[in-house]
Amino acid sequence: MSNRERALKHNHSQLVSRANVLRSLSTHTPATIKQLARRAKLSKPTVTKSISQLKELGLVSSKGHRDQPKGRKPALYGLSEEHYWLGVDLEIPDLRIAVYDLSKRLVKSKTDFVGMDGEFKDVENSLPVELIEQVEEFLDNQKISLDSVLGIGVGVPGMVKRGYFRPFSRLKNPPDIPLTEPLRDAFGLPVVIGNDVDLELLAELDRRNLLEEPGVVAVYLATRPSKAADHSVRIGGSVYHKDDTLQGAIGSANEFGHTSVARTDFDQDTCNCGNPKCLETFVNRKLGEQNNEPAMDDIAEALSDKLRDLIFFYNPSLLVVDLLAFPRMVKLVMDELDDFIELRQEQLSTNGPEVVTPGDSEMACARGACIKSYRNLALNPEKYAHLSLH
Ligand SMILES: [Zn+2]
Repeated sequence: MSNRERALKHNHSQLVSRANVLRSLSTHTPATIKQLARRAKLSKPTVTKSISQLKELGLVSSKGHRDQPKGRKPALYGLSEEHYWLGVDLEIPDLRIAVYDLSKRLVKSKTDFVGMDGEFKDVENSLPVELIEQVEEFLDNQKISLDSVLGIGVGVPGMVKRGYFRPFSRLKNPPDIPLTEPLRDAFGLPVVIGNDVDLELLAELDRRNLLEEPGVVAVYLATRPSKAADHSVRIGGSVYHKDDTLQGAIGSANEFGHTSVARTDFDQDTCNCGNPKCLETFVNRKLGEQNNEPAMDDIAEALSDKLRDLIFFYNPSLLVVDLLAFPRMVKLVMDELDDFIELRQEQLSTNGPEVVTPGDSEMACARGACIKSYRNLALNPEKYAHLSLH
């Protein structure tokens, strides 16, 4: 190996260490060198070097000393408050744009809409342009300089693959809409995109400090009222396994809303997804039957059936159930689920899963987009200009 090659390799390994220390701080801050070395699986001298470089880059700052009864009090390090992630929830037509600091605290946000001036014409060109304009306007109004933003994360509905997404639950036969490249070209920053429900699950697991825990298998079923149409509900899902959300071959895995309902009284239009027994269509059809209590029972039954299936499909350690669209149904569905889990435990001599409801609903997707950005930074640190020593 030539001297030049050796130097390049050395520089790259320092870059990777800086990225890993930064990511470790994002889950536990402030922290001592010793704690960071353990969590990031690096030696103490390496962490010391990384911290000194991250301080030089303005991404990390001293946070005093840890109070302990005996011996020298070790120095604490935390994340800078002058750098940000941009998180976008492109729910269509709803849009949320948010700025988080490096500790994932919400700094500024706005809610708006996209594509409200009529039909989506030429959506693969018009939507990225409209999003870029809204983000520019937001950063301008909030006086946030692009230089202080490390990267952009976007949550989108539908299938996500290689920088494109296809919002099939929003539009009929939608094309692949590019996002990564247009945003990267417009802002000169690294961009990650993810399915919105996947990002919500990441945010929930982060809130519970479960992202760094080994062996977590989490399943998430989300029912959300649509803001675009009255009496309409969107149902989504996500599965977290082996440190990542499961994507499937074409990025459509775990769209639980488009799985089948086991009923024979079907008289409904086929959903955009193609499934003639689609759960989301069934639920919305029932919701159309105004003031009909039996219809609400039918919905509760369909959701309970689905949750039982999910427990057998994935054998999760954690089941996150979001019934935001049906607040009056929460007790009924959760009680039924508890009964089932108890019976299953007796029959199979097994434990779990733990069943929980999520904490934040409104901003979870945008926050999850920042978490995905952190993960990308640890995987591809060379893409993040803020990490490189000039
Ligand atoms: Zn469907």
